[in-house]
Amino acid sequence: MRYAVLGTGIVGRTIAAKLASLGHQVTIGTRDPKATLARTEPDGYGNQPFGEWLALHDQIRLEAIADAAAWGETVVNTTAGGGSLQALEAAGAANLADKVLIDIANPLDFSQGMPPSLNPVNTDSLGEQIQRAFPEARVVKTLNTMNCQIMVDPSRVAGEHTVFVSGDDTGAKQAVTDLLVSFGWPESSVLDLGDITTARGTEMLLPIWLRLWGSLGHADFNFHIAGA
Ligand code: NAP
Repeated sequence: MRYAVLGTGIVGRTIAAKLASLGHQVTIGTRDPKATLARTEPDGYGNQPFGEWLALHDQIRLEAIADAAAWGETVVNTTAGGGSLQALEAAGAANLADKVLIDIANPLDFSQGMPPSLNPVNTDSLGEQIQRAFPEARVVKTLNTMNCQIMVDPSRVAGEHTVFVSGDDTGAKQAVTDLLVSFGWPESSVLDLGDITTARGTEMLLPIWLRLWGSLGHADFNFHIAGA
């Protein structure tokens, strides 16, 4: 399968590397490939410059967002939540039409400092905004409620724990479930919450996720829905 992963941060890198390790073809999309490759400083989270990372993953390509999206059979959104709609506009509606669009982003708003708030929230979600903006894309919100290392290696957390999926398209959710199983998730851990409006619930887990992170002092934890 050809995957376009939009986003050059730690989530995009982690998902891209996992997909490539499973034998998929992967292209990462960025706004300006030359500028992204020219970065020599660690990013705001201390991750190594993207070019250094890419040099260690020579089976993964870097392209402009639209080129990556046009090439991909499945598109994964791992951009900053506040820029996701812009990123997907750059991808182009025609390049997203009829494709499964896996949305991992969270609409964190850092404009008022830390901890971030959510925008949109309560009566809307980023997942819904994306589905409304790109009605022909088959949007599935998933994996946004855990640290990215756990997304691709659920065994980092002992015992049973849960990954949610939200989306309007049953076939797309099954395809994403199959992908999650290939990442190491037991099918019984995948909890289908329903249509894309249920993304409100998973995005609104972020405030508690952030407090748990602060309280536990590490990110190797996840939610487990007992009795599911
Ligand atoms: P990030 O720093 O939140 O986002 C970096 C990416 O966003 C870059 O590729 C950047 O593009 C793109 N971007 C930012 N503004 C943009 C705009 N206006 N238009 C187009 N692209 C834009 O990266 P991250 O930490 O890897 O997180 C990615 C997403 O996953 C976020 O939404 C985050 O909330 C969510 N998430 C993160 C984790 C985690 O473990 N960190 C877990 C769950 C969910 P360029 O490449 O062009 O600079």
